[in-house]
Amino acid sequence: MLVGFVAGSQANAGDVEISANDLLGKFSRACGRAGFVSLGNGKCLRGEVAKRYREMADAAWKEAKIRLWVPSATRTFADQKTIWERKWRKEPGATDDRARALRILQWSSMPGTSRHHWGTDVDLGHPNCGGDCLVDAAWTSAKGRPVYEWLEKNASRFGFCQPYRGAPGTRNGGKFAHGYGEERWHWSYRPLAARFLARYVEILSTLRPVKGAFLGAEAGAEFFESFVRNIDANCAP
Ligand SMILES: [Zn+2]
Repeated sequence: MLVGFVAGSQANAGDVEISANDLLGKFSRACGRAGFVSLGNGKCLRGEVAKRYREMADAAWKEAKIRLWVPSATRTFADQKTIWERKWRKEPGATDDRARALRILQWSSMPGTSRHHWGTDVDLGHPNCGGDCLVDAAWTSAKGRPVYEWLEKNASRFGFCQPYRGAPGTRNGGKFAHGYGEERWHWSYRPLAARFLARYVEILSTLRPVKGAFLGAEAGAEFFESFVRNIDANCAP
């Protein structure tokens, strides 16, 4: 099965052709792009991922009366640049770009380094979040915990794993110097995402953030490999 295509250089990773632009989110929009389908709320994923997500959401409802929804799916480089630069401008640690980047990186990716570019990853929500589903409390509260526990037990049946699991310093036995905080809402469709990560690592040096690509790219370049690679072993290639 081929997923996605972008004109320009391509390489074959298993049966998936993955270009640098696929990895970096360098396309104008996911919805309407070849190989992507809509979840019906303006959010789009690669076709296989959307199909498996729907199966998982149906099962959550049938088996546990849990309604899942998707606050965020595929994001482009430009989408991520908007998020990143808004935080960069607001970040109070303004005198030290390195510290500033690391503070933002606790929860947000630099443009070109987000798994959301790949069309394989989703942020999940449920009606018990209490306003914001992308915070720890939404999944550890009395009402949120059963949803997380259902996902922990069942998501793998549909190919999904939680890449940002546990504390970043202990993930992978502390092999990587940095990593995102635990995100109980972020789930990844492993059969494709593992191939995307393998390809990312393969051509890593060509994907390094460069000066001018976004605010703070030079400071962030020091850390980007750690943040991309420090994921839970269950999601690893
Ligand atoms: Zn996410």
